[in-house]
Amino acid sequence: MTRTFDPADAQLQTQTLLEKIQSYTGPPISVMEVCGTHTVAVARMGLRPLLPQGVKLISGPGCPVCVTPVETFDKAIYLVEKGVILATYGDAMRVPGTRTTLADARANGGRVEPVYSALDAVKLAKANPDDQVVFLGLGFETTSPTAAHAIMVAGRENLENFSVLCAHKALLPAMEALVADPQMEIGAFLCPGHATMVIGSDVYKPFCEAHRLPCVVTGFEAQDVLLGLLWILRQAKEGRAEVENAYPRAVDAQGNVGAMKMLATVFRPADARFRGIGVLPGGGYELKEEFAHFDAETRFLAGVEVESREPAGCMCAEVLRGRIEPSQCPLFAKTCTAENPVGACMVSSEGACGAHYRYRGV
Ligand code: SF4
Repeated sequence: MTRTFDPADAQLQTQTLLEKIQSYTGPPISVMEVCGTHTVAVARMGLRPLLPQGVKLISGPGCPVCVTPVETFDKAIYLVEKGVILATYGDAMRVPGTRTTLADARANGGRVEPVYSALDAVKLAKANPDDQVVFLGLGFETTSPTAAHAIMVAGRENLENFSVLCAHKALLPAMEALVADPQMEIGAFLCPGHATMVIGSDVYKPFCEAHRLPCVVTGFEAQDVLLGLLWILRQAKEGRAEVENAYPRAVDAQGNVGAMKMLATVFRPADARFRGIGVLPGGGYELKEEFAHFDAETRFLAGVEVESREPAGCMCAEVLRGRIEPSQCPLFAKTCTAENPVGACMVSSEGACGAHYRYRGV
């Protein structure tokens, strides 16, 4: 069953919501906030220390840059060194590859262009007809339809110098992997408003029913996060496990049908490697045959071996699985800081380590 918004809850102010959460008397529960934007919101609010005994928030693997494996960045850097123009989101620029970062490759003369969207990369290809432009596509279903759209546009315009290094991920398989982890006891999921705006809240129903876990979709303002958490606690206390949508101003049951159609036109589900989690069946997307000529892997990386390893001592793998808090990594706030990050989870604006570091005094 999917419950939707209760108008009475909309009237509750932040303080009231927090007090209701703090008066929780149900069973102990660990709630995973799947997505990095929620992790940042929770850290910025200083919510964790305010939670009642028995209620724990765990940061999950939903930061797109963080779950992108190191070998993807190594491949992107290899392409830059081979002379392509590499376009990607700004957050990806400082993520450490094995030898260097895209930002450093750029400082050394490589052509790396930060873009706000995949379509910007198409524009870059049109503006540079004598160069190959590769878009490094990252993220869950919030961004993958935009990559699909860009590829469709490039196809219509017969752009032969545009391709995509696809590192897009699928949300549900990541949640399945977290639930299957014997070291984790996740009691509920706070589901991301932005990705769910695209995939629709109904997609959580089979997952919710199969695992008997509450899944509440919510937004990113303090009031949204608190309302989502309150609804999870209500379910826990009442012994319910349902999909609830606490973000109806942006999310509905079906999602963005047009965006999902574009995604399905260009991509098909494929196994994908997540940093720290490993290869997940159906965990990502690959280009369909009819769009294979836009695949940077087949065009430029067939037979290329890049040597990849995680930064020494970095525990991003454990952080991304929710097995440890960032502060439990021995490097946290010592050799690894926002100013001098060691791992991806500290670099990204949505990374758990970065969020915990920036707001550690809140
Ligand atoms: Fe990696 Fe730094 Fe986070 Fe430790 S604190 S897990 S080194 S990103």
